[in-house]
Amino acid sequence: MTRPPQPHTEEAALWRAAARRVPIGIVLTDPAGHVLHRDVEEKFGTENLNQRVLLDRTIASLLAGRETSAEAQETVELFGPPRRTFRLRRSTLPSGAQLVTVEDLSELRRLEAVRRDFVANVSHELKTPVGAIVLLADALAQEDDPTVARRLVDRLVTESDRLSRLVADLLDLSRIEEGSIVLTEVDVGALARAVADRFEETAQRASIVLRVDVVGHGSTAEGDRSQLESALSNLVDNAIKYSEPGGTVEIRVTSASDSVTITVRDEGIGIPARDRERMCERCYRVDAARSRATGGTGLGLSIVRHVVDNHNGRLTVSSQEGVGSTFEMTLPRRRARS
Ligand code: ADP
Repeated sequence: MTRPPQPHTEEAALWRAAARRVPIGIVLTDPAGHVLHRDVEEKFGTENLNQRVLLDRTIASLLAGRETSAEAQETVELFGPPRRTFRLRRSTLPSGAQLVTVEDLSELRRLEAVRRDFVANVSHELKTPVGAIVLLADALAQEDDPTVARRLVDRLVTESDRLSRLVADLLDLSRIEEGSIVLTEVDVGALARAVADRFEETAQRASIVLRVDVVGHGSTAEGDRSQLESALSNLVDNAIKYSEPGGTVEIRVTSASDSVTITVRDEGIGIPARDRERMCERCYRVDAARSRATGGTGLGLSIVRHVVDNHNGRLTVSSQEGVGSTFEMTLPRRRARS
């Protein structure tokens, strides 16, 4: 004989299952304080014992305050690793039951810190050329000697160039980060040749040999031409900037049945292993003095990473200090629509 449906039990089980799907930790007690539901540990997996104890203590102290206030809130910073931030809120339900919700704000806090750092870094980057331009213009206004005036003008041009490059990179980055993409069939081999042509003079001035090698035919991929050009230009620019005179920079395009790979290889100073993980962050530089001296903005690799992400591609880097670096962008021939 089948049992008649038991709506209350079934509904309770359904609520419990639903609560487990919500990415917020929940502690529910009856008015006397007996725990009816608790999923904080399974949701946030605080395997760090100290963190677990602290979280537990905060929940207990919030529940202990139920006699004096209907609602309470507390934010706990758990020093890691990994560092985590939780916001806990207690509220009293009509029956006197207590509900404590636990939200993990760690990712939000990390993103806020990244944004704060970025604004601070960019402001600093902008301040340097703007400050220099003000001083140089002031000096120029008071200068009678044409030779000195000429020198001041040259430096004014250099600083204005840096400022305009920085603004152009920032605009590029914000456009690319936004993720919008104009897809066409791009001939990646032709693009590589066009970028190489544009950098030929820069390479010559730095006494670098710039080579392009497009292997085979049919190196087309679906992509945003202007974004790909921006990414490749940044890689070639870096390869030249971080090479010593006499070095070779090679751009190589190879095709597979479902992807096209663009490789930019240099014989330059290389990137220390400890910096490789962070070098695609906005404004991150291994050697700030060298980057600035060569007109770097610290935004190039960040642009590259976003362009590759926008194309659902893959970016790999291998490098050895004093030997050189190889950056490889692999793009699917057909970009899956997102
Ligand atoms: P920048 O404008 O400073 O070159 P990027 O975002 O393009 O900024 O690069 C970040 C940092 O990574 C650079 O400052 C440099 O220290 C390092 N880097 C990038 N490409 C190379 C390379 N090909 N060889 C050596 N170091 C590199």
